[in-house]
Amino acid sequence: MSPSKNPRPEPASSAPKQGSARRAAGQPAAERGPGGPAGQPTGRAVDSSRPQIRPKAEGWKQPMDAEGRPKLQFAQPKVKQPPQHLADMTLDERIAKAKELGISGFRAKQLSVHYFRHYTADPDQMTDLPAETREQLVEEFLPPLLTEVRRLKTDDGATIKFLWRLFDGALVESVLMRYRSRITLCISSQCGCGMNCPFCATGQNGLTRNMSSAEIVDQIVQANRAIAAGELDAPNAAEVAEEKDHAALGEETDFAESEESAAAGKSASSSSSAGVGPQRVSNIVFMGMGEPLANYKRVMNAVRRMVDPAPEGLGMSARGITISTVGLVPAIRKLADENLPITFALSLHAPDDELRDQLIPVNSRWKADEAIDAAHHYYKTTGRRVSIEYALIKDMNDHQWRAELLAEKLNARGRGWVHVNPIPLNPTPGSIWTSSEPEVMRAFVNRLEALGVPTTLRDTRGKEIDGACGQLAAAED
Ligand code: SAH
Repeated sequence: MSPSKNPRPEPASSAPKQGSARRAAGQPAAERGPGGPAGQPTGRAVDSSRPQIRPKAEGWKQPMDAEGRPKLQFAQPKVKQPPQHLADMTLDERIAKAKELGISGFRAKQLSVHYFRHYTADPDQMTDLPAETREQLVEEFLPPLLTEVRRLKTDDGATIKFLWRLFDGALVESVLMRYRSRITLCISSQCGCGMNCPFCATGQNGLTRNMSSAEIVDQIVQANRAIAAGELDAPNAAEVAEEKDHAALGEETDFAESEESAAAGKSASSSSSAGVGPQRVSNIVFMGMGEPLANYKRVMNAVRRMVDPAPEGLGMSARGITISTVGLVPAIRKLADENLPITFALSLHAPDDELRDQLIPVNSRWKADEAIDAAHHYYKTTGRRVSIEYALIKDMNDHQWRAELLAEKLNARGRGWVHVNPIPLNPTPGSIWTSSEPEVMRAFVNRLEALGVPTTLRDTRGKEIDGACGQLAAAED
């Protein structure tokens, strides 16, 4: 990570200097008092010594709508769609298509085994298929969707960021991370993103188009191919030690499961070889490029392919799949009714609408409370504990009173239904913002814990290769 990517500017001059506001207000830092300069509600600890930085796009121009609010793009522009692929279809649909082509339905099944079990689209390897139909089957069912442009490795080879070019030249990224007892792939669901969050690199160029179900799934198949070829190394001792302190992406949301796999990982960690542990992607996080719930139909069809047993799909566990959203409330409620035990994560980042309106532009449609209600509904409907994502941004959203307000809002809806995952903000090009100081992060986590909210600071892999959350912007250079 180059220093220029992570500037640590002084707080904006309009913000009160350390200590001066406290003196002006005549109060100790954590005293309960009237609303402070940041406009925080009364009756809560007022961090009056802490500046309040307001979100501001720096180094790029945030597109605005006619009313002067950050522009939101829900519908994709009218552009050509990728060719249909085996992974877009159910097995029955594949069989029907094969028959239409005058080929036995059984061939569609064999082809599915090649793709979902052996991760191959190469006709030469399909020796169980008659030579004369192989080429035709591959042409009809397995058009190339993702062409690898570049791959970057970090964490001693335990993290790989892939840059893919799609059929129309659009670029997307996915990030593959091997942990002790799981392999997580962070996948993209849209080319670009229409949600326009000022701290996230992906939204800076708006939404190009939705990805097709097969483009989403092919990220996993290609990652599995790389793993099978031995290209993803085991985490080194330092990474493993780090894992013991911080939850991995997608791990923290399923306590029972993570304890189980931690136990399983004990034996695995006795060896440093990449040959121990899963040999394919075990966990998916929709935390790459795009807003998955703005591409609902294709994302859900892709999820079906992930969980369908082979050869219909990849046969993955739904519990290992995490869908993360800015908070599209009607779609969250729809997701709750899908009857799939997938893990749900809400990118909250601020408990108060005043700040969230600026940090997450979609908050102009659905307020923080509505988004939290929808997350709670998800829990009530599925029984799955949900996750609240909270990128800690220095002097912006990391105040003690915000930890308290967050705890108050979550506890008001019950106990045991939610888990908070703060993550240090990752630097993005042009951003003047920076991650909270370690002691401020600790204090934030401790406050939530003290108020009875399970909280885990999240591990953020891939920063050095701009592969961490919010850093995916998919440029060729
Ligand atoms: N659109 C979805 C998923 C993609 S982003 C969503 O917003 O949830 C995945 C996560 O990374 C989200 O929680 C998002 O808010 C977070 N994120 C974005 N930019 C970030 C940054 N610069 N540092 C840390 N996390 C960031």
